[in-house]
Amino acid sequence: MARRKKVYEGKAKILYEGPEPGTLVQYFKDDATAFNAEKKAVIEGKGVLNNRLSEFFMTGLTQIGIPTHFIKRLNMREQLIRQAEIIPLEVIVRNFAAGSMAKRLGMEEGMSLPRPIVEFSYKDDALGDPLVPEEYIIAFGWATQQDMDDIVSLALRVNDWMSGVMYGVGIKLVDFKIEVGRVWDNEFPRLILADEISPDSCRLWDIETGQKLDKDVFRRDLGNLTDAYTEVAKRLGVMPSNVTHRPAKPTLIN
Ligand code: 5GP
Repeated sequence: MARRKKVYEGKAKILYEGPEPGTLVQYFKDDATAFNAEKKAVIEGKGVLNNRLSEFFMTGLTQIGIPTHFIKRLNMREQLIRQAEIIPLEVIVRNFAAGSMAKRLGMEEGMSLPRPIVEFSYKDDALGDPLVPEEYIIAFGWATQQDMDDIVSLALRVNDWMSGVMYGVGIKLVDFKIEVGRVWDNEFPRLILADEISPDSCRLWDIETGQKLDKDVFRRDLGNLTDAYTEVAKRLGVMPSNVTHRPAKPTLIN
C-alpha cells in the first residue's frame, strides 16, 4: 500500500489523510485501553469487529436522517470518513445507571433512570475526561448554546434508534458515548456524528441474562472481549454466524 500521511493516532484508532480533500481514512486498531490508558492490551480481532459494527450503526443512523461522518468501509480495518472539526466533548447518554454515574451517586448498576440522561465530559486525557456542565461548555466557547441544543437532540435520536435496534436482538442499551464534529457546507456549519459507535463506547447487556457484551468485559476482567463483540455482531447479522475472529482451519482438498 502507498505510504500515507498519519493525521492523528488515538488509543484505538489512527486517522490518515484521505484520497480527496475533506476526507480521512479511519483505521481501527486492536488496542484496548481502560482507566485512562492505565490498563492496556492488544485484543486480536477487536479492530475488525469495531470497524464492521461502527459501519452498521452509522449506516442505519444515516438511513433515518442523522448526518454522520461515515462515507464507506474500505476494508477489514478501515473506513473512509468525512473530516470534521471535533467538538472536544464526550457526549454520554444513559438509560440505566452504570459505570461512573452509579459510582458517583451510589446507585445500583442497572437501575432504570426516569428518562434518558445526557451528560458531557471534556475530552482531555491528561485530566481524565472530567464531567462538565453545559455552563462551562458555553462559557469556554467549546460549543454554542445552539450547538448544545442540536447535540442533545442528535444524541437522543441516536439513543432511540440504537435502543430499538439492540432491543430487537435481545440486548439492553445501558449507556453510550458519542462524539460530534462540525463540517462546513459552503459557509454554513453543520454538526455530524463522528468517531465511532461500537461496543468500545457502549454498555450492552443481554436482556435475559444480564451478561455484559461490551468493553466492561475488558475493564472488569469478565472474560474474552472478542467473543463478546462477536456475539453482538452475530446477533445484528453484521457477521455470518459461522465466522469468528479465529483464523479458519485449512481445508484439505483431496
Ligand atoms: P462511564 O462514564 O460510566 O465510564 O461511561 C459511560 C459510557 O460512555 C460507557 O458506555 C462508556 O463505554 C462510554 N465512554 C466513556 N468514556 C469513554 C471513552 O473515553 N472512550 C470510549 N470508547 N467510551 C467511553
